Order: sequence, then structure tokens, then C-alpha cells
Amino acid sequence: MQFADVVGHDALKQRLRETLREKRVAQSYLFLEQEGSGGLPLAMAFAQLLNCESPTETDSCGECNSCHKIGKLIHADVHYTFPIVADKAKHKEASEDYLADWRKAFPANPYMSMQDWIASISDENKQGNITAKEITNIIKGLSLTHLEGQYKVQVIWGAENLEKEGNKLLKLLEEPPERTVFLMVAQNSERILPTILSRTQSIKVPRIAEEDISKALVAECGIDEARAAQVASMAEGSWPLALHLAEEGSNDNLGLIKSFLNQSIGRKNVPQLLKDVEAIVGLGRVRLKQFLEYMLLLYRRSMVAQATGEIYAGPNTEENEFIQKLSARLGTKRAQKLPEQIGKTIFYIERNGYGKLVLFNLAIQVGKALKQ
Ligand SMILES: [Zn+2]
Repeated sequence: MQFADVVGHDALKQRLRETLREKRVAQSYLFLEQEGSGGLPLAMAFAQLLNCESPTETDSCGECNSCHKIGKLIHADVHYTFPIVADKAKHKEASEDYLADWRKAFPANPYMSMQDWIASISDENKQGNITAKEITNIIKGLSLTHLEGQYKVQVIWGAENLEKEGNKLLKLLEEPPERTVFLMVAQNSERILPTILSRTQSIKVPRIAEEDISKALVAECGIDEARAAQVASMAEGSWPLALHLAEEGSNDNLGLIKSFLNQSIGRKNVPQLLKDVEAIVGLGRVRLKQFLEYMLLLYRRSMVAQATGEIYAGPNTEENEFIQKLSARLGTKRAQKLPEQIGKTIFYIERNGYGKLVLFNLAIQVGKALKQ
């Protein structure tokens, strides 16, 4: 995990980079995050930077031996503690007993919530816990193991779960072995043992700025800027929520686009087409424009797919399938002109053109162009 993989928080990344550059790395940090704001990814990216063999000006290199090992969560100097559901019968009583699950779950979803994680390791609706055995393991792990890299790092995710057993860590926090850094992540500072709180440097990881979420949505999900901005405004500074909303929204629009195109091409079912046009116009002018921009994006991707034989594989399988199918119909000159038609429709909508009429006109053009 590099800083580049963490959405937003440029100022925090800068601050962490500087502490390393100026050799002022603290012995213990507490990343206080909001739900979905990315405290854990930020801590993990910092752990990678601390041990990177050839960091760039702004980030870990992502290429060196250390980065590779940390990327796979197998670096000998980076230890992970996270809540687990202890199962004595199965001898699963500390975080290391769930390391295999951790190595799968974190890379798959670095922004996973605690509930996501606990649900992935336990069938029942249980509460996660950092066990007494885990505390003993931390102490052993940090005191006894040999330092291979530049820093020994102890990540503690869900530090609220360090109950009074956590006091056993105080000595370590106060006098950690040389070049040892604690990176704790929590959401609720009130639930952190005060004795621990007073020995750590708190770093607030606030809600992610809307603008940063919007940019990341465009870059990572390939959605258009207008829709990204709309999704970002609803995401409450949470990246996983933004991803969820983006997916949900595109599925909605995608269904409507599919229906609109099918009816336009077949034109066997004029009442259905009218209904679709009405539903689309009913979205309101802003969303109608977003709908058309999304349609335009899908067309452009289909044209690229038609020309190159390769489809842009986004995260949405239904979308990918749609692009594949549409690209097969784009061989004719008329079809190649469709993006222009959609562009004109957007132009009219922006200038308060009569929605139903312009869309009906578009449907006729689409029908003619895509009929085979
Ligand atoms: Zn590196």
C-alpha cells in the first residue's frame, strides 16, 4: 500500500513524509479516523514508507524487496494486531491465528470496516476483541525479534479494543526497543485507555474532502466528472460509501440506458419507449444530463472497443458486458455519429430544451443508427 493508493489526505501524507525526512518519527501514533476515511490504509502506507529501501520524494517506491514484502503483509518487521473472535477449541486466540484471513481481506478491501472484517472470520454476529494472548504476542514480537529492516512496526487496528490488558503495553510504549514504531488506528478516542492515549501522538484522519473523492472516482471507476461530483457530495467523506453509491447509481442508469436503447432499436414497443423517456425526463434536469453523459461515456468506450478489439474492463461487470454488446453494433458510419447526437442532446437539455422531445428524437436517431 502506497500513499498514492490512499484517497485524499494530502496534508497528512506530507506531514508523515516530513517526520521521516527530518528523522522525527514518533514512537507511537494513533490515527483517529471517521468511518471510511482511511486511517488503516494511511497507517499501512506509512509502515511501507518507513521501511522502503528507495523512497521517492513523495512515496514508498512500491518496487523494492521491503515494499513487496509489506505489500504481501509478510515483512518480518511489520506486525499486525487486529480484533478477532477467539475460538479456544480451534486454538485461535490471537491475531496471528487469523493472519491468512488478514492477508486476503486487507488487500481485497483496504477500507474494510470492522464489521466487514469480523463477518469475514466469523459466522456469527460476534464482537471482535484484542485478546490477552495477543498482548503477550506483541510484547514478545517487539522485544525478542531481530530487526531486519529500518523500522520495526506494530500496527494495531481497532485500538479501542485494547481493554485493561492493554496497560501491559505501557512500558513498551514508553521505552520501545530501538527504531520501533506503533501505528494504532481507532475511531473513538473516548474508548481508548487514557494511559495509552497520553503516550501517543494523535493524528486526526478526517472525512475525505469531496473534491478528492470525486477525483478518485473519475480515476478509479471511470465515471464522468459530473456524476463523480454528485456521488462525492453524498458520500459523507467515506471512500467505501462513495464506491457503493457509484456502483448503485451506475446500475440504475445502466438499466435505463439498456431499456432505452432496446426500445429505440426495436421500436416495436412505442408505449414502453414513451415510458422510458418519461422515466428519464422524470430524473430532473441535472440527473438527466448525468444520464446522457453516462450514455456518452459508454458509447465512447464501445467505440474504442470496436476499433481496438479490447474493452476497458471497469469494476462493473454488467457495464463491461454492455460495452461488449454495443461495440458489435458500431460498425456503420451512422453509428459512429451517435456520440455527436448524444452531445447535441446534452446541449439542448442544458439550454432547457423540451426534455421529452429531445429524448424522443435521440431515440429515433439511435434506432436508425444501431439497427442491423
Ligand atoms: Zn520500496
